[in-house]
Amino acid sequence: MRLRNKPWAKEKLEQYPEYYISCPERYKGSWTKVFSKDQPLHIEIGTGKGRFISEMAKTNPHINYIGIELQKSVIVSALDRLIELDLPNIKLLNINAAELTDVFSKGEVQLIYLNFSDPWPKNRHEKRRLTHNNFLRIYENILVDEGEIHFKTDNQGLFEYSLLSFSEYGLLLKFISLDLHSSHFEKNIMTEYEEKFSSLGNRIYRCEVKYCSCTGSNLSQK
Ligand code: SAM
Repeated sequence: MRLRNKPWAKEKLEQYPEYYISCPERYKGSWTKVFSKDQPLHIEIGTGKGRFISEMAKTNPHINYIGIELQKSVIVSALDRLIELDLPNIKLLNINAAELTDVFSKGEVQLIYLNFSDPWPKNRHEKRRLTHNNFLRIYENILVDEGEIHFKTDNQGLFEYSLLSFSEYGLLLKFISLDLHSSHFEKNIMTEYEEKFSSLGNRIYRCEVKYCSCTGSNLSQK
């Protein structure tokens, strides 16, 4: 994502504690207290400008949502959406996904969305891909026992890599589409990148995978 530096972003984010949580480690194990209703928690990693997660929160008031984004200059645009929508069931965090276990306890999150994650095509950057084995282990440590990852991308190489990574980790494949916009999947909510790349004619790939008792750290060879 091309970034315009916004030196004022930090100050603006901190002016809205009802949407932006500045010291999220404080709430590890007690995220239900942050929301007005005790209900399932779904998070999006790499939420960008927040279109997907805010639309999800509007459509599903019975679920709490957290959008997680590394870049302050980007997440500040997501904040603008939340100010406009004024929803009680969504918050934003400016953290790196590598720090998720500092912020959430095991079992606090039901579902993780990864939408149009950076592909990091060079082999030497493989560990930065959000579907790398190291990240799958981090996700396992915050998800409920049968927690899920829902993943969308227009990048065929990243999709194939991710399917292999999920499979090697022992995740169960629940759903797959190799051309989402031509499929019968009706609940799709578009992200900013999805809008941009599908308008260029790119195919959108999507899958849902699920952890189970035979997954990841429970496998003896891991
Ligand atoms: N999901 C949005 C969409 O589909 O429009 C944005 C996609 S953009 C290509 C990927 C986003 O993920 C960027 O905003 C980037 O800053 C964020 N990101 C990349 N690595 C991250 C990490 N380790 N933790 C949190 N966010 C990350």
